[in-house]
Amino acid sequence: KHSLFIPRVTVIGLGLIGCSWVKGLRVRGCVGEVHGYDRNLDSMQQALQIGLIDDFSTEITDAVRDADLIIISVPILAVRQVLQDIAPAIRDTAVLTDVGSVKGSVARDVEAVFGADFNRFVLGHPIAGSERSGVSAADENLYVRHKVIITPQAHTDKAALRLVRAAWCAVEADVEHMTVAHHDEVLAATSHLPHLLAYSLVDTLANSHENKEIFNYAAGGFRDFTRIAASSPVMWRDIFSANKEQILKTLDLFQHDLNFLRSAIEQEDTTTVMGVLTRAKVARDHFS
Ligand code: NAD
Repeated sequence: KHSLFIPRVTVIGLGLIGCSWVKGLRVRGCVGEVHGYDRNLDSMQQALQIGLIDDFSTEITDAVRDADLIIISVPILAVRQVLQDIAPAIRDTAVLTDVGSVKGSVARDVEAVFGADFNRFVLGHPIAGSERSGVSAADENLYVRHKVIITPQAHTDKAALRLVRAAWCAVEADVEHMTVAHHDEVLAATSHLPHLLAYSLVDTLANSHENKEIFNYAAGGFRDFTRIAASSPVMWRDIFSANKEQILKTLDLFQHDLNFLRSAIEQEDTTTVMGVLTRAKVARDHFS
């Protein structure tokens, strides 16, 4: 049993990420009552049915009124409206956190809605997940031995930070701190660009071949490389838009290197091609 106990938790956005977190807290005995809100009624009913939440409200203000910890787990571009809607109803001791894949845009949303001095919002991002979504994908062990990046700001309240850290540690995640800017730069390269490339490749192949017959000949490489193109389009549309600048920067770099490889192949410069492949293999072997 874990020593953490949070009497009332509210989850806004009953999808894979938010549900997995509360399910993990719940099975480890770290939460009392769990309240849910989602704009989709079916998700709320399903979450109630499987005992993931104790109650839901169709009014977002009712869902947050008594909460000690409010977890916001909606697509990135939906965050600002959620904050505007809950602002008048939250307790003045409530701690808020999010799980969004981009931190700069959420930091700006918090400042716009609550003001620059608001210190009880702890920005976070679990580096775990899958291409699955929704309540049914909830997994209490999703975060075990996975990194969670928390991006505290200078004014973030220490007790609020401790609570959010503890709520991640309770589900056996490894918490790390980063600045907001560094997070968005790193994740653009390691997560956002690969997703962009996977979606784009599948789209190109699907469009360039009349019938989808080519996918019958897709080998393991294609599967491995494109699995992530089955992720939620809404979620990724929002990420590409919210982290536009960092994504374009890393995409430009990639495009430059891709052109370099392209011309080496065109010119049958096998030494250069071998150089690129060898450097990449060494880097990949080192990291796995
Ligand atoms: P999901 O699609 O499983 O769940 C999102 C839920 O939010 C859905 O139930 C949807 O109905 C609800 N929702 C959408 N707009 C809403 C609104 N305006 N008000 C209330 N509810 C609303 O998605 P998910 O994978 O749980 O992702 C949630 C967040 O977690 C996203 O911000 C994403 O960036 C972040 N994240 C996802 C992953 C991943 O791999 N899936 C990993 C890390 C972080």
